[in-house]
Amino acid sequence: MSKLTFNTDNCKGCGLCVDACPKKILRLATEKINKKGHHPAEIVDQAACIACASCALMCPDVIITVEK
Ligand code: SF4
Ligand code: SF4
Repeated sequence: MSKLTFNTDNCKGCGLCVDACPKKILRLATEKINKKGHHPAEIVDQAACIACASCALMCPDVIITVEK
């Protein structure tokens, strides 16, 4: 199973990773605010992740690490 790790405190909440995910399992956590004042990205269904790394490649700030 894959594992996603987020450098949450540095996420700027741009949502590019959310749009890039073919499985639509990422979202911006509207109930959370990180140190930079943004809603950080998070995964809602880890089991559905296919480890394609589209999210990690799309992120301009290299926030996401995908492990297979
Ligand atoms: S690795 Fe692929 S399937 Fe998994 S969260 Fe990122 S974009 Fe979605
Ligand atoms: S693309 Fe990167 S900076 Fe933008 S919301 Fe996703 S993890 Fe955060």
